[in-house]
Amino acid sequence: MRSLPRHTKVIATIGPATESREMLKKLIESHVDVFRINMAHADHDWVKTISQRIRDVGTELNREPAIMMDVKGPEIRTGYLHNEVNLKEDDLLDLIFEAQPSPPITGEIWQIEVNYDRLPEHIKSGNTILLDNGLIPLLVLDSSPEKIRCQVKQDATLKSRRHVNLPGIETGLPSLTGKDRKDSLVGIESTHDYFALSFTRDADSIDLFRSFLRENGSDAQIIAKIEDQKGVQNIEEIIKASDALMVARGDLGIECAFEDLPIIQRKTVGSCLAGGKPVIIATHMLESMIESPVPTRAEVSDVANAVNEGADCIMLSGETTTGKYPIECVQMLNRISSRLEEEIQPGLTEELKLFRPKAKMLRSAAMLAMRMENSAVLVFTRSGDLAAKLGALRPNGAPLFAFTDVDGLHRRLRLIWGIEPFLIDFSNDPEITIQVAIKKLLEEEWVHHGDHLITVTNVFAHDKVVESIQIREVTN
Ligand code: PGA
Ligand code: MN
Repeated sequence: MRSLPRHTKVIATIGPATESREMLKKLIESHVDVFRINMAHADHDWVKTISQRIRDVGTELNREPAIMMDVKGPEIRTGYLHNEVNLKEDDLLDLIFEAQPSPPITGEIWQIEVNYDRLPEHIKSGNTILLDNGLIPLLVLDSSPEKIRCQVKQDATLKSRRHVNLPGIETGLPSLTGKDRKDSLVGIESTHDYFALSFTRDADSIDLFRSFLRENGSDAQIIAKIEDQKGVQNIEEIIKASDALMVARGDLGIECAFEDLPIIQRKTVGSCLAGGKPVIIATHMLESMIESPVPTRAEVSDVANAVNEGADCIMLSGETTTGKYPIECVQMLNRISSRLEEEIQPGLTEELKLFRPKAKMLRSAAMLAMRMENSAVLVFTRSGDLAAKLGALRPNGAPLFAFTDVDGLHRRLRLIWGIEPFLIDFSNDPEITIQVAIKKLLEEEWVHHGDHLITVTNVFAHDKVVESIQIREVTN
């Protein structure tokens, strides 16, 4: 039995450092499972080109990764800057609402664009606005429809398109903006597998986004990004409404108190595991490796902690978009997660509720696979549900092979802890389907003569279909 490189999955965000065919190839060979395209920075032509390139390289390597479009939702950012701006403490700075002609800054008072013209309605003097992940605090002096006049509270350099955070302030932004809709249409055209919705605040925003996707012919799944206090408050309804969650620690760490962050992370992972929904830990996992070939010891521990808590995925952002060591970052995640996984006591998530009889049988199948040497679990799925539940059980140590005949689902399943997905044709006769699957596993050298596969499948008993758990010995 070939063992999986790791059970925890890896997401890499694509940017200038990784957009070439060669780099995409190296990333897939390093077992990146999902590629993320961040719509804060991507234009539509680039999205189309990159998506096609990812698909081509994946097909060539016979390892098709999923593609996730990260739409920005009610995210506020500063505008494009040709050159960085050096701000000094006590400088005056106007937040304005139209793009600046080049050069973007004029006069004694900095003029900085933000992408939300109704912001002044929600801001009053005395409020604090944070730019660039909280690095640049601004004190609001005056708020009028044309501009928000602020005082810079700390020397800092402002770069292009930085985050704007307003901790605890309700901004009135719709959950799905006009830009999100236009961006998503491009993602739909490029058959993206996942759409991540930034700043998800409630279940309604997920439902709305899902209707939009379905109306436009996409069956993609939705990842709720938890990034602010509202999202944390409504976490249970959001988990129910969405297909997966992301703990977006970049914004969350600004919108919430720092010391609450690890607790929010731990609780969110726990709730997702209990609900059988995949969960991603994102941002600053190996931040120092943007510049350095080795991580800090604290980063190593942070990654290990996410794996230990039971996250499905760990995600790289700046590390792989503009960092100097993108491949090394993925390899580092591989090393840390596979090593830590060796230490995790095999166990099956007790809190996970399984409803369908077939899903309930999974627990027994997973148990068998963990107890028997050289064995793996084999499932067949058209909705993905059986594979999602199997992964959520976290049967540590046993490979989990999921076969589907639904094109696209074989990519989507890459997000789920421990699942190695395959696309095949299903036959009306379940036995033929099983044989085709085992043949594929043998051909691709996942399994060898003498290994055992525990399957949960239908069999015909006379003319009745019954659910069964079976142990199949692999023979050449
Ligand atoms: P972003 O989301 O990279 O789109 O901001 C992730 C985060 O906030 O952590
Ligand atoms: Mn964010």
